[in-house]
Amino acid sequence: MRYSLISLLFLFGNYHLYAQKTTTKQDSLLVRQIFDEALVHGESYENLRSLCKDVGHRLSGSAGAEKAVVWGEKTLRKMGIDTVYLQEIDVPFWERGDREEAVLLTPEPRNLRIKTLGGSVASPGKIQAEVVEVNSLDEVTRLGTKIKGKIVFYNRPMDPRNISTFDSYGGCVDQRYWGAVQAAEQGAIAVIVRSMTLLEEGHHAHTGSMGYKEGVTKIPAVAVCTEDANALHNVLRTQSGMEMTLDINPRENPDVKSFNVIGEIKGSEFPERIITIGGHLDSWDVGEGAHDDGAGVVHSMEVLRILKAMNYKPKCTIRVVLFMNEENGNMGGKTYAKIMKQENQNIIAAVESDRGGFSPRGFSIRGTDDQVDFVAGFRSLLEPYGLHFYEKGFAGVDINPLAEDLNIVNPDILMMGLVPDSQRYFDFHHNDDDVFENVNKRELELGCASITAMVYLLDKYLNVNG
Ligand SMILES: [Zn+2]
Repeated sequence: MRYSLISLLFLFGNYHLYAQKTTTKQDSLLVRQIFDEALVHGESYENLRSLCKDVGHRLSGSAGAEKAVVWGEKTLRKMGIDTVYLQEIDVPFWERGDREEAVLLTPEPRNLRIKTLGGSVASPGKIQAEVVEVNSLDEVTRLGTKIKGKIVFYNRPMDPRNISTFDSYGGCVDQRYWGAVQAAEQGAIAVIVRSMTLLEEGHHAHTGSMGYKEGVTKIPAVAVCTEDANALHNVLRTQSGMEMTLDINPRENPDVKSFNVIGEIKGSEFPERIITIGGHLDSWDVGEGAHDDGAGVVHSMEVLRILKAMNYKPKCTIRVVLFMNEENGNMGGKTYAKIMKQENQNIIAAVESDRGGFSPRGFSIRGTDDQVDFVAGFRSLLEPYGLHFYEKGFAGVDINPLAEDLNIVNPDILMMGLVPDSQRYFDFHHNDDDVFENVNKRELELGCASITAMVYLLDKYLNVNG
């Protein structure tokens, strides 16, 4: 039966073999060894400490980002990885200003804790206008000219009922990204957006990227911490015509040169087949980018270290890419995919970690049903390590262009993202609390081992083109 299926696949040519594999006793011993190595001799936590404390936050174009590139290259070389190189890219260079002030003009004026959203233009000096609260982009359209000359306050909270907090984020983030465009189309002069977090009394505003649209006036956009969003809501509920002032001075500089940092172990049997693993090296310019995405960076590097420490020789090339500029442009991911296409490089799989350094639960798989079944076939082997989640879904922003760009050598590339427990991710996401101290050593190490185990299994069982 199995034989005939394989022959069938050969007959029809260019198909990948995602037939179910039976894992062996040797696999379970190897996976055990991988977890032992990560938990006993792990270096990811120390690497994360160094990235967070010696480099710090690192938004594209900044001195921090430049330092992070040097750090990434140096750390990979120190690990004894045979091939380490930089891939040049052009990145945007947006800078937060030194003025970020919002005041609600109640009889006792109240300072609102805000952060300028990434990409926002400056306010023309200090502006003052009435605040109008809305819960959706549609509501802005319904209000129409009633919001002309006003400041729009988007206050729809993240839905607490979802078990995956990423679903709640996805259900809300349109306000942050498109809020300014929608409001400007109706003549508003600025927007203030409730922070994307499930913390009900959050003290820090959470930044993140926002967009503009050609032909629509660019108006300033800021996020407000949830405690102040609630206070603002309570004032607006009882008093009409309430005004606020806003004063921010961010700056958009010309693009600058930067780099993806790449390290790889050449495959012993099929060096031309590449498994890419990665996270993004840049972070927002607040906190230390510890969970987002320092964790993904050190997860990925640690895969190479673990394989080397175990003296395991992969059949395919295992390539770590520390992507630059995921947060505000994804030029690292787009450029990597473009080069793969130009050079006809055969990426057979890609694994991304960009959901924090929390306890791993499984993988979100972007691929066909067969591919999802293929990965889920490893469940019994990996479940003892807490990895029970194998579902079709988004893999990651950095690797996504590999699949979008359908002309690369392998159009059916198997892609997946590590899925850690998500309950606390949005406590830290894009704010001052995303620091090294908020990452747990064991949880981080379990993530390293989980990706390494998956890479080992892909290397062994992902037979491409027969
Ligand atoms: Zn990220």
